Amino acid sequence: DLALYRAKNAGKDQFSLYFDDLRGSAQRRLDLESALSQAVARDEYVLHYQPICRLENGRPYLVGVEALLRWQHDGQLIGPQEFIPILEESREIVRVGEWVLREACHQVRCWQLLGQTQLYCSVNLSIRQLQQPDFTDRLIAILDETGLAPSRLVLEITETLLMQHSDTVMATLQQIADLGVRLALDDFGTGYCSLGYLKRFPLHLLKVDRSFIAGVPEDADAAVISRAIIGLGQSLGLEVIAEGVERPEHMQFLIDAGCRYAQGYGFSRPKAAADLQRSFSAEGCFEELWCLLPDHAA
Ligand code: C2E
Ligand code: MG
Ligand code: MG
Ligand code: MG
Repeated sequence: DLALYRAKNAGKDQFSLYFDDLRGSAQRRLDLESALSQAVARDEYVLHYQPICRLENGRPYLVGVEALLRWQHDGQLIGPQEFIPILEESREIVRVGEWVLREACHQVRCWQLLGQTQLYCSVNLSIRQLQQPDFTDRLIAILDETGLAPSRLVLEITETLLMQHSDTVMATLQQIADLGVRLALDDFGTGYCSLGYLKRFPLHLLKVDRSFIAGVPEDADAAVISRAIIGLGQSLGLEVIAEGVERPEHMQFLIDAGCRYAQGYGFSRPKAAADLQRSFSAEGCFEELWCLLPDHAA
């Protein structure tokens, strides 16, 4: 491989450095795997929640929260990009994913009882979970246990997951939709799903990947693509949610483009449940959301 070739040609010192590095990272990987296999038992996983807002009369209104997994290990808070691929390889994601689902449904049900009656819960799913023949039974059990209405749950899947679909996965997605649980296509625009393909799945929401939103309104290509995706979603009868809304200009662009839902650091970063709960207000608006409004930007 190229790295090895380069290391060899750079001389002996470089060569052994390369192997030390390789051994180091293989060891780190093994350490991570074993630590991860005990994380559920040790209660080291925690969910952070990020608000999803409806852009109504130019005013962001809290409608839902996305649950995002974190791992508290050795005094550090580790993000999902670093450990979810490892969990997926070992299939441990099935167990962890079920914990995420139960915990998120329970938390949102609690917030509903505290007055956020219409709040919905959005949870990311891995293909491994959907490949389980009894996924729907487990889902029904969790809804029963936590008392969350199926209509208040959204399950997020990616284009890659749809591309790898089997008959089992397709049947499970249909069962989920039949329960009244909604399905969202996450990170839309980054995968290779053909548009015709989308029609075959029982989808309800489309989440526009933040890479497109990041460029608007200045970057003409980003603006054209974002408007096209919003229009596409609408013509397929899907609700469209923009991800990665960080600046007032992003929000104004989305309002002008007719996008009704948004999520991003500009409204709130993902937060621990107790921290997020402090910013709930009676009408469901967050104080901090006002920072994105043009009137309040000054
Ligand atoms: P995602 O589902 O697309 O989640 C959104 C990610 O974008 C989150 O990263 C969030 O913190 C980040 N984000 C939100 N708003 C902004 C913004 O305005 N700017 C920027 N730069 N980033 C923003 P996070 O929490 O690191 O999660 C990364 C990915 O890990 C998620 O992407 C999702 O695919 C996966 N993930 C997270 N939790 C779970 C889980 O419980 N199960 C599974 N299977 N995957 C999960
Ligand atoms: Mg997501
Ligand atoms: Mg996403
Ligand atoms: Mg993403």
